[in-house]
Amino acid sequence: MNIHEYQGKEVLRQYGVSVPNGKVAFTVDEAVEAAKELGTKVCVVKAQIHAGGRGKAGGVKVAKNLEEVRLYANEILGKTLVTHQTGPEGKEVKRLLIEEGCDIQKEYYIGLVLDRATSRVVLMASEEGGTEIEEVAEKTPEKIFKEEIDPVVGLTAFQARRIAFNINIPSNLVGQAVKFLMGLYNAYIDKDCSIAEINPLVVTGDGKVMALDAKLNFDSNALYRRKDIMDLRDLEEEDAKEIEASKHDLSYVALDGNIGCMVNGAGLAMSTMDIVKHYGGEPANFLDVGGSATAEKVTEAFKIILSDPNVKGIFVNIFGGIMKCDIIATGVVEAARQIGLTVPLVVRLEGTNVDLGKKILAESDIDIIAAESMADGAQKIVSLVG
Ligand code: ADP
Ligand code: MG
Repeated sequence: MNIHEYQGKEVLRQYGVSVPNGKVAFTVDEAVEAAKELGTKVCVVKAQIHAGGRGKAGGVKVAKNLEEVRLYANEILGKTLVTHQTGPEGKEVKRLLIEEGCDIQKEYYIGLVLDRATSRVVLMASEEGGTEIEEVAEKTPEKIFKEEIDPVVGLTAFQARRIAFNINIPSNLVGQAVKFLMGLYNAYIDKDCSIAEINPLVVTGDGKVMALDAKLNFDSNALYRRKDIMDLRDLEEEDAKEIEASKHDLSYVALDGNIGCMVNGAGLAMSTMDIVKHYGGEPANFLDVGGSATAEKVTEAFKIILSDPNVKGIFVNIFGGIMKCDIIATGVVEAARQIGLTVPLVVRLEGTNVDLGKKILAESDIDIIAAESMADGAQKIVSLVG
């Protein structure tokens, strides 16, 4: 789960991580009021959306007086920002962060991520701040430094210092940088983050080390024990189909293609997407209905797939292990009946109760194209969608 920059900064502040003073604003008047309260010479008006790249897209503006705050707030609020992270449709700005302007001397990059290969949290840093880390990794990988963190010991002051030296933090500010990194790491662990990215971390003219941007992502599997974080969820930033799916305990991720996929098991769901792509199609979603789905759950899953106007065909690929094929078949028939199927449907069933499942499908009055194998099903749906 994602939260807004201003919320992330609030969380970091609790851990002694230094961030500029700022206030959230939902209207232009609130923005001007917030700037007045801050009382700083320069204010920054920042669009709050769950995506980065706002600066380049015109979503971060420096205001030198209250009139400019009003002007920029007016301009940014309600605007649809298109950044390289929003996709071409962009995201509408509904909140602003009004923040104290900083006298930036240099920008750095700091990231904490889970490295799945080593099962450890890795601290990454670079002196190429403000630019995308992917770009730095491609062009000048030698400028990225990493520290692998032992989960028992945690981030050590020694490692934090080594990172600070490697990215050339001015030597008189290394102490502050170490405090910053330790606080960031504590927040990451305490709040069950999956990513904490500070881009940029800055050194200011008056000798401060601060986070000017904050991106915190949280492990959704841990949210049940993080009510404080759950309270920060902004449903308006999330895909409506994904919200609906989470209500029914379905693992669903919306994608850009036009072939809806209904699969059981995350591994099979991944390989189904692969094989659809292999035959030249584009999946409209990842969907794992889980091992213990009921007919009702399958019906809900079907409805969610069909509520996506981009879906031009559906591929159901089920391996009946714990999940029985007849349950899936009943769900598919029920859903098709309830919603009325308007696109081609290819079904491949294999495993427990497969004959019964096939019988249910064959005896229904729904137009179902049966597939003999995964490859056969993928080819069929790709050619039907065209
Ligand atoms: P994004 O990553 O979405 O573009 P950032 O928060 O990183 O948004 O802001 C983009 C740039 O705007 C920063 O790299 C920094 O140069 C500038 N900036 C952001 N916040 C401030 C601030 N409080 N004071 C001065 N400059 C800022
Ligand atoms: Mg940034």
